[in-house]
Amino acid sequence: MTLLEKIKNASLKNKIFFSITLVILLISVLIALFTRWVLISSLTSEIKRRGLGIGHSIAESSRGYILTEDLPQLTSLLFDTRLGDRKLLVVYVFIQDKENQVLVHTFTRPFPRGLDTANPLPPDQPHSIRLLDVAGTSVYDVAIPIWEGIYQIGTVHLGMNKNHINRLIGKLRTTFLGFVSAVTIIFFIISHGLARYITRPISQLTRVSDEISRGNFDIPIQLGTGLHCRTVKSCRQKGCPAYDGGDLPCWYVEGTFSGDGTVRPFAEKRESCIQCPVYKMGVRDEVRQLASSFINMAHRIKESQARLQESEVKYRSLFNRGPSPIFVLERDQYRILDANPRAEEVFGYTQKELKGMPFTDLGPFEDTDRAGGGNKGGEIVISRVQYLKKDGSPIHVNVHAIPARYGDVKAIIVAATDISEMVEKDSQLIQASKMTTLGEMSAGIAHEVNQPLNAIKMGSEFLEFMAESGRDIPETDLTAVVREISGQVDRAAAIIQRLRDFGRKSDFTKDRVQINRCVKSVLNIIGRQLALQNINVELELDDRIGPVMAHGNRIEQVIFNLITNARDAINQRQEKEEAPVDQTIRITSGQRDGHVRLTVADTGVGIPDAVKSRIFEAFFTTKKMGEGMGLGLSITSEIVEDSGGTIQIDGVPEGGTTFTLTFPVAG
Ligand code: ADP
Repeated sequence: MTLLEKIKNASLKNKIFFSITLVILLISVLIALFTRWVLISSLTSEIKRRGLGIGHSIAESSRGYILTEDLPQLTSLLFDTRLGDRKLLVVYVFIQDKENQVLVHTFTRPFPRGLDTANPLPPDQPHSIRLLDVAGTSVYDVAIPIWEGIYQIGTVHLGMNKNHINRLIGKLRTTFLGFVSAVTIIFFIISHGLARYITRPISQLTRVSDEISRGNFDIPIQLGTGLHCRTVKSCRQKGCPAYDGGDLPCWYVEGTFSGDGTVRPFAEKRESCIQCPVYKMGVRDEVRQLASSFINMAHRIKESQARLQESEVKYRSLFNRGPSPIFVLERDQYRILDANPRAEEVFGYTQKELKGMPFTDLGPFEDTDRAGGGNKGGEIVISRVQYLKKDGSPIHVNVHAIPARYGDVKAIIVAATDISEMVEKDSQLIQASKMTTLGEMSAGIAHEVNQPLNAIKMGSEFLEFMAESGRDIPETDLTAVVREISGQVDRAAAIIQRLRDFGRKSDFTKDRVQINRCVKSVLNIIGRQLALQNINVELELDDRIGPVMAHGNRIEQVIFNLITNARDAINQRQEKEEAPVDQTIRITSGQRDGHVRLTVADTGVGIPDAVKSRIFEAFFTTKKMGEGMGLGLSITSEIVEDSGGTIQIDGVPEGGTTFTLTFPVAG
């Protein structure tokens, strides 16, 4: 592991600790180098200054001795200069005459060669200083002229020891190093404590968050700020939730008073809390602030966890005890992930059998959104659909499905409400109404059946008469009579078959139905009756219209209801008015924009506006007792809607009525 990686992987405490120590060491080294540079330059100039001072005083004192050439006095003057502590500083002194001949010097050994010429004094210069190496010692040679009036009579040379400076600096270095070491150790200890102070709450927070992620919320959180608004504000509001708010600072506690005296949740009252002294104290220390906000977060998670658990229990019990079968399906294949006990009960499968089974095994199910059909917010509604139980018996259900998440899986929750009983009642009602219609028709039907019966009677009476009178019936006549009787029997049978078809209880499954064919078969039954009542039926049926998905038998009943209502309306009008009225029922069919349209228009009494809004209500009728049950249009609208169609009324009172039905063309 490289050093960089080691630093990266070190604990936060060590990172803080080492970086503080490193910075202090770096600062100490820089200070030491700077101080050394300042000291050296100031000491050097001090030494040169002192050298110049001593040199000038020697030049002053030696002038007389040079003039009198008193060399012994001159020598003792030089030696006096090096007395005391100057001995260490001044290495040598020598005096040269005007010809630069050394007159006297302080060397106890022979005068070093070349020293006399090493630092010549340039003319017109007050002095000259040059760093020389004299027998292995670094020396600043200070040369000062000796003047007598305007004449230079000699030169004083002083050798100032440079090592003396180094010695002084050495002493200072030791003192400085000691000082820096002491400071470093103190900072070392402080930074260690500081690093611990900063990182301890953080590692505590880490431990607590680990516990929370393990799902343990009952851990005592001792990171509290210890800050209580009641102590800071000397508050006596014992009713306030923050009064006993435990570790949580007041601005996080719901229902407490904010700065402006109102009670608001945290996010909203923060604005006013910013001015509050309690809040200001609480947010001064970032680590404390972090701890408070962490406590608040843990508190909220705990609360929402509790709420979540509560709602889970609620929804579980809804799921388990719900009155309708509920399934959870996986969204791609519609495989059953879960099903409630009611689903087991209704469909007869066990939980084990249901899990993993494709939901489509129970009955048709198509996500119209996925199929591109579009639905409301992903909701799927399939009404009155037939599903199968385990034993193969059918069950009628209304299906409501919504997309949801089930753990990590994209799922669909399906409620399949059992409406078998309702469907059965509906079909009984429809059947009852149909039977009523048949009853109404009985006079007309009797008339219709009577005609073939009369013809058969006539034929058979003819045969009887011929047999009784013992006459031979010519071959051709016998064939013709028998054929006529057989034809009339077929006609009567056809009428009865049509009646049976109409009266049959329709099955549940929808088929592709040709509307035109339904119109014709209804007219087959009641056309003759209408003709007897002098009602014209005008047909404008478009042969090119497509089929619709519906129950053929029920569509016939719808058309039947509309035609009989039209007939009644025309008869009512005829009863009211003296003059003969136009008695026409016009039936047209057509197709536009993928929809088949069927209109039944009459020239009857029309529907007043006040009545219009009620005609689809069950048992609403304006007809006399015994003439109408008020069920026709209510059943009609139910059947039309069940086939995905619509029904619309047009027309004005006293001007007849037009009913328009539309159905989507079957794909
Ligand atoms: P019923 O025919 O047994 O009265 P319906 O539900 O078929 O029951 O009709 C309800 C009411 O609607 C009728 O009583 C009548 O007042 C009105 N109605 C229906 N069709 C027409 C029509 N073509 N013209 C005028 N009124 C009508």
